[in-house]
Amino acid sequence: MLIGIDLGTTNSLAACFRNGKVELIPNRLNEKLTPSVVAVDEKGQILIGETAREYGYLHPQAMARLFKRTMGTDRVYYLNDTELSSEELSAMILRSLKEDAEAYLGESVDEAVISVPAYFNDNQRKATKQAGELAGLKVNRIINEPTASALAYGIGESSESECCMVLDLGGGTFDVTILEYFRNIMEVYAVAGDNQLGGEDFTITLMEMFMQRNGLENDDLTLRELGDLYKAAEQCKCSFSSQKSSIMSVMLKGRPVSEEFTLDEFAENCYPLMDRLRKPIEKSLRDARITLLDIDRIILVGGATRLPTIRSYVQEMTGIYPDYYVDPDTSVAQGAAVAAAMKERNQDIEEVILTDVCPFTLGTEVISDNGRFDEELRYLPIIERNTVIPVSHTERVYTAHDNQSEVTVRILQGESRLPRANLLLGWLNLEVPVGPKGQEAIDITYTYDVNSLLEVRAKVVSTGLEKAVVIQNDSNRLSDEEVNERFRKLSYLRQNPREEEANMYAIFRADRLYESAEGSDRQRIEKEMTEFDRMLDQGTRLQVEKQRQQLMQVLDEIENRGKVFLS
Ligand code: AMP
Repeated sequence: MLIGIDLGTTNSLAACFRNGKVELIPNRLNEKLTPSVVAVDEKGQILIGETAREYGYLHPQAMARLFKRTMGTDRVYYLNDTELSSEELSAMILRSLKEDAEAYLGESVDEAVISVPAYFNDNQRKATKQAGELAGLKVNRIINEPTASALAYGIGESSESECCMVLDLGGGTFDVTILEYFRNIMEVYAVAGDNQLGGEDFTITLMEMFMQRNGLENDDLTLRELGDLYKAAEQCKCSFSSQKSSIMSVMLKGRPVSEEFTLDEFAENCYPLMDRLRKPIEKSLRDARITLLDIDRIILVGGATRLPTIRSYVQEMTGIYPDYYVDPDTSVAQGAAVAAAMKERNQDIEEVILTDVCPFTLGTEVISDNGRFDEELRYLPIIERNTVIPVSHTERVYTAHDNQSEVTVRILQGESRLPRANLLLGWLNLEVPVGPKGQEAIDITYTYDVNSLLEVRAKVVSTGLEKAVVIQNDSNRLSDEEVNERFRKLSYLRQNPREEEANMYAIFRADRLYESAEGSDRQRIEKEMTEFDRMLDQGTRLQVEKQRQQLMQVLDEIENRGKVFLS
C-alpha cells in the first residue's frame, strides 16, 4: 500500500486514501499527530513522538527535535552516547509511522509519497529520500508541501482555472507557492520562502518577553528551566488563537513566576517576524510575473497560521481574505495521500498532472575577462529558478586561456553571483584542442526532469567530444551495502515496542509531573505510580490498562489544574 506522509519539523503524520476519501492514520497513542521528536533512553532504546518528548523534559540531552532543519547537512546528534544524523532521526519517525499505518490498515506498507518544503534544496530532498529508504519505504514521490495542501483544498476539482497562493507557516519553515490550476494541470509558477522562519520563532519571542520582564538572560536558566519556559510559552502562544490574554507560569529556582501577556502586546513584539513574511510573498509574485490582482485565492496552511495575528497580517497586507478551513495540521498529509492515490491510479480520484518548478538556479562557473589582469570568477545561470520542469537549456562558453588543454565544468546550484557561495553538485572535465584563448567553443546543456534528476552534457563544438554526468536526487545515494549497513545500525537500536508505548508515556509523564508537583499532589502521583509499577510487574493486561487510565486521570487533573491557572 502507498501512503502519504507529512514529515514535519514539529509534527509528522501519515494518511491514506481509501473508499473514495482521505483517512488520517492514528498513531500508537491513538493521536493523529506524532511529534517529530526522538530520544534514546539509558538502555539505548529509541523513543519516538510524545513519549520521546515526555522523556526529554527530564533528560533534555537525550532528545533531538527540529532535526528537519538540519536535513542534508553533516550535523550529528548525540543522544545518550548514540550518534545519529538528521536522516537517521527522520528514518526513526518514518519507521514509526509506517508501523502505525500497517497496524491501522492491516497490510504491509512499503511505499510512500513524502512531502518536503518547496524551498528544500537538492541535498535536503536527497536526505529525505534516504530517510525513507532507511525506514524501509520506497519513496515514490517527493511532493512539495504547498502543492499537497492545494490538493487537500480541492484545487483542481472544479473546471474553472484558478490562481492560488499557498502560505505555509509550519514549525520551522515558511513557504510561499503560487500555483495555477487549469484543465487538469496544476502548475507551480513560483516558490519562495524562508528556511529559518516558523512557529517556533513566535514561541521564542514569548520566551524572550517573559525573560525580559524578569530581567533574565538565557544563561541564568538551567536547561530544564529553559525547557519548562519553552513549554509554557508554547501553551500561551496557542491559547492566543482563542483568547486575548494569557498567563505564563513557570517554576524558576524553586518558586513559581507568572506573567500575563496580551495578544496585542505579543503581536507588537512579533512584528519583525511577521514582516519577514512579506519578502518571500513579494518575491514569489515577482518571479511569477503577476500581481496580487491575479491571485484568486490565498490558502493558509501550517500550524502557526492558527495565530490570529498572522491571519490578520496576511489579510491586511494582501487585501485578500485567506482560506483556512482545512485543518492546517493535517492538510499536507491529506494532500500527500491524494497524490499517493493519483500515483496508484485510484479510480475515485481524477488524476491532476502536477507540474513543478525547479526551486533554485542551476549554473556553472565561468571566468569573465574584465579587461584587467584579475580575471573574475562569475556564476553563469543555465536553468533559472522557478523554470517549469522538465526543462533543458544550453549555454555556449569558450576557453579562457591560451594553450588550454582541458576545461572543467563545475555544476553549481544557488542564487549567489559568487560561484563559491553556491552549492557544488559535481563537475566534468573535457579535453579541448590547444589554441589561443576563446578559440574553442563548448556547449553546456543542463536537463532537469520531474524527479529532480539533473543531467549535464558538455560538448566541444570543434571535435564533437561529449561528456555527460547525471546528478540525481539520489546522487549521494547509498549503495545497497551501505543501506544494509545503516539499516543494521538502526535496527540494532531497538525501538520501543508499540504495545508498551502508552505505559512508557504514562511513566515519563508521571515522572515529569512528580518533579514539578508538591505536597499532596506528589503523594497522589507516588501512590498511583506504585500501584502502576505493581500491576506492570504482576497484573494482567486488563489490570495494567485500568491502572494506567487511573494514573492518567490523576495526571490530567493535576496538569489541567495548572492550565486553568495558566489561562
Ligand atoms: P506544523 O509544522 O505545521 O505542524 O506547525 C507547527 C507549529 O504550529 C508550531 O510552531 C506550533 O506551535 C504552531 N501551532 C500549532 N497550533 C497553534 C495554535 N493554536 N496557535 C498558534 N500556533 C500554533
